[in-house]
Amino acid sequence: MPPANALALVLRTTDWSETSRIATLWTREFGKVRALAKGGRRLRSSFESALDLLTLCRIVLLRKSSGGLDLLTEAQVVRRFPGLSTRLPALYAAYYVAELLADWTEENDPHPHLFDEALDALAALAEPPAEEAIGPRLARFELVLLRELGYTPLLDICALCHAPVVGPVAGFSPGAGGVVCGGCATRQRDRRPLSPACHQALRRLSAAADAWRQPWDAALRAELRQVLGGYITYLLGRRPRLLPYLQGS
Ligand SMILES: [Zn+2]
Repeated sequence: MPPANALALVLRTTDWSETSRIATLWTREFGKVRALAKGGRRLRSSFESALDLLTLCRIVLLRKSSGGLDLLTEAQVVRRFPGLSTRLPALYAAYYVAELLADWTEENDPHPHLFDEALDALAALAEPPAEEAIGPRLARFELVLLRELGYTPLLDICALCHAPVVGPVAGFSPGAGGVVCGGCATRQRDRRPLSPACHQALRRLSAAADAWRQPWDAALRAELRQVLGGYITYLLGRRPRLLPYLQGS
């Protein structure tokens, strides 16, 4: 197969042998890719430093036809996000983005819109926004991720009876995949309360790319984190490792 070029975000690397590493990459062209980087552990070669976590690089791959690993033959840094390492809440949020992409997307299933969204999210987390903006920015990323993977939460109709929602809802149900109306409340045990403010916040963050920039109060941010974290935990079948570190975002 001819070499393939791609723009890639480094999500994870693991040692493979004394000199090689396996890199999990989120590429714009091919979706998630796992590739063997021979010589990727030699001391601080430019190849090696391009494989630092959360580095955006331009790569060349030799693709395997089925199974097996691709071979990474070139990696050049395009962009780093040094602002992330100066504030722990932003760094945890960025690790959470990487974890969801690494563990939830399929290999060779490209989502260019989600690729762009992940880069926008990392760039926003790395510039010094108010600390209060971290949670809402992450929520926007989560909502785009959910949409791209086919799990958009239903917010305008009841997730059980599909009646249009008017007024306050009885709650949010991860199992049903959205809000639940008063009439259906007793049918869904896993529903949790959803305040009108949080319901509205979810709608706004889903609809507008820059809604996260407006100020959100602490109680609302905490509820957003609970609702989205709970939904993602349900869908993933386990709690993301970084989720407990996002409290207060
Ligand atoms: Zn209903």
